[in-house]
Amino acid sequence: MNKPDVVVIGGGVIGCAIAYYLTKRGARVTVLERDRIGDHASSAAAGMLGAQVETSFPGPMVDLCLASRRMFPDLQQELLQLTGLDIEWNSAGMLRLAMDERESGELQQRGEWQREIGEKAEWWSQEQLIQSEPALSSEVKGALHLPGDTQVSAPRLTRAFARGLHILGGKGVEGAFVTGLRVERGRVKEVETSAGSYRPEQVVLAAGVWTRSVARMAGVSLPVFPVKGESLSVQVSEPLFRKTLFGPGAYLVPKPDGQVIVGATERENDTSPGVTLEGLHRLSREALRMVPELSGGNWERSWAGFRPGSPDGLPYLGRVKELSNLYVASGHFRNGILLSPVTGRGMADLLAGLEVPEFHPFSPERGERVTQSGWG
Ligand SMILES: Cc1cc2nc3c(=O)[nH]c(=O)nc-3n(C[C@H](O)[C@H](O)[C@H](O)COP(=O)(O)OP(=O)(O)OC[C@H]3O[C@@H](n4cnc5c(N)ncnc54)[C@H](O)[C@@H]3O)c2cc1C
Repeated sequence: MNKPDVVVIGGGVIGCAIAYYLTKRGARVTVLERDRIGDHASSAAAGMLGAQVETSFPGPMVDLCLASRRMFPDLQQELLQLTGLDIEWNSAGMLRLAMDERESGELQQRGEWQREIGEKAEWWSQEQLIQSEPALSSEVKGALHLPGDTQVSAPRLTRAFARGLHILGGKGVEGAFVTGLRVERGRVKEVETSAGSYRPEQVVLAAGVWTRSVARMAGVSLPVFPVKGESLSVQVSEPLFRKTLFGPGAYLVPKPDGQVIVGATERENDTSPGVTLEGLHRLSREALRMVPELSGGNWERSWAGFRPGSPDGLPYLGRVKELSNLYVASGHFRNGILLSPVTGRGMADLLAGLEVPEFHPFSPERGERVTQSGWG
């Protein structure tokens, strides 16, 4: 019988970040991953740290996203020194593109409240845009320039957390499929897996879109559901643009090796594993609408992943009321890469018995845990 202090169920970016920060605090932590670490949504992500580009109104979610985004420059150095892995933090910034007058108006309003909360969000006319990124199509009418919204390599980030965890003495067990949670006297007594059983003091549920079915093993209802996303990538021999270009129908994320990620479709409760021709067609069309010269890019690959959604679009971060030692960190939807450091640090604090006020709006006990159709 294995007896770590904490078992984290799920080896995606969220589980690995939590385990990393817990290990830094001195806890004995084991991550249980049924497949390979980082194999699922966390590898499908484009790696945008879109605290401003992804949010339409002010509130606790923007605050959490901004707090997490601020952690990346130091985190990059910390992980590089500890693990030798570069997460490829790219500070070139983002442009949120408007393709018509209506979008221009909406984005200018968004810029106003973002400046009011102290963030940089400058409106760029078509002329200013073309000077900065000459490859943009003349269809683009203007853009909100968001220099603070940066990007990283999502697969490298997950790997770096996992390697850091290992170096600091934590464990990641691959091929450990959690099949049961044995509950006794109001707490999870035992975590049963295909690779043996564990009796930890505390359990963290970070199983992405599968959180709902694992929670049910302990009699807990958490309505996390899948939102499928398809993406593709092309290779360009010379960089066509430096900033991440975020349009109304797709985004283009340039990577250091000449790769451009084109993402992503969004289909709620679609659990089919493949990539559709329709999805690829739509992404290619939107990409060429923004940067026509991308048509000369060489096709590389396509993939699909499942974002963990929640009914109100916010993540669940905290302890579940039914059980005294079961915590959840899931439902990060489109922002799990961005939110991973703040989630990891905050969950490590919570498990150590500290108050984390910035997590209050994300309590698993908020509102009704409305049940959605979907997996699990
Ligand atoms: C196409 C696409 C693009 C995206 N782009 C971005 C982006 O640019 N920026 C951003 O911030 N976010 C982005 N996201 C969202 C981000 O990828 C997710 O929010 C994040 O990866 C969720 O991480 P996770 O650890 O919760 O889930 P996952 O990465 O899915 O990890 C959950 C893990 O739990 C494991 N698991 C499940 N059940 C069990 C079990 N019973 N036993 C053991 N292990 C189990 C799974 O095998 C899996 O590895 C994107 C997502 C997609 C799909």
